[in-house]
Amino acid sequence: METLHLKGFPTWEQFLEFDKLMKKIGFRLMIRDEIRESLSRLEGKAPRHVTGKEVGYIWISPFGYSVIIWTTAIWQEKRLRDIGEDAGWVIIVKDNKLSYCTRYFMRTGNFFLRLARYAWISKWKVEHNPSCPCESCLKMMYIYRKRGTRQYMWRCDNREAHQAPTFRSWDYELPPNAKSFLEVRRSSTRKYNQKNKEEGKSPIPKAFTRKRKKTIKA
Ligand SMILES: [Zn+2]
Repeated sequence: METLHLKGFPTWEQFLEFDKLMKKIGFRLMIRDEIRESLSRLEGKAPRHVTGKEVGYIWISPFGYSVIIWTTAIWQEKRLRDIGEDAGWVIIVKDNKLSYCTRYFMRTGNFFLRLARYAWISKWKVEHNPSCPCESCLKMMYIYRKRGTRQYMWRCDNREAHQAPTFRSWDYELPPNAKSFLEVRRSSTRKYNQKNKEEGKSPIPKAFTRKRKKTIKA
């Protein structure tokens, strides 16, 4: 993925490059009705309040998962939303349910680069949806989030083939360069959460907790 032009502080020009890249790797712009429909079905579980003016991208896997990228760019106004009241995110949706959600991407340096890499990785994961490791099952696994640790993994519950559920790592067979990129972000997430914990702060930026209760309009 050619991403050098996405480095640095996010600008409108970078967004245009991001747009080209998203289309090149198979995403398309979400149409207005699609945004409205997908967000209203998630019933407020979308990471934050969305006005529908912003640009979203979608890629739908043959196995039924949709990867949705939210950018903070407002196409009609040719600008990015104001810093502090906005962030990007990547979600994976199936059957109108939220299967996966990234931590917010704050609009700091390399914003579009980080968003593009997560878009690519999320797409890769659902595109390579693993099948169950049990040889008498081999069913497609689904995205599962562990209750306690909040860790994502692949899971299969086919009781006819195996009594206990089977699991595979969320990074199953992910290319090594993508894995090392995830490690960097995960370690920064751990530090970020730890720092917030020590300072007694909520890890969710104020702008989101404030907007969360509003109804979603598209
Ligand atoms: Zn199975």
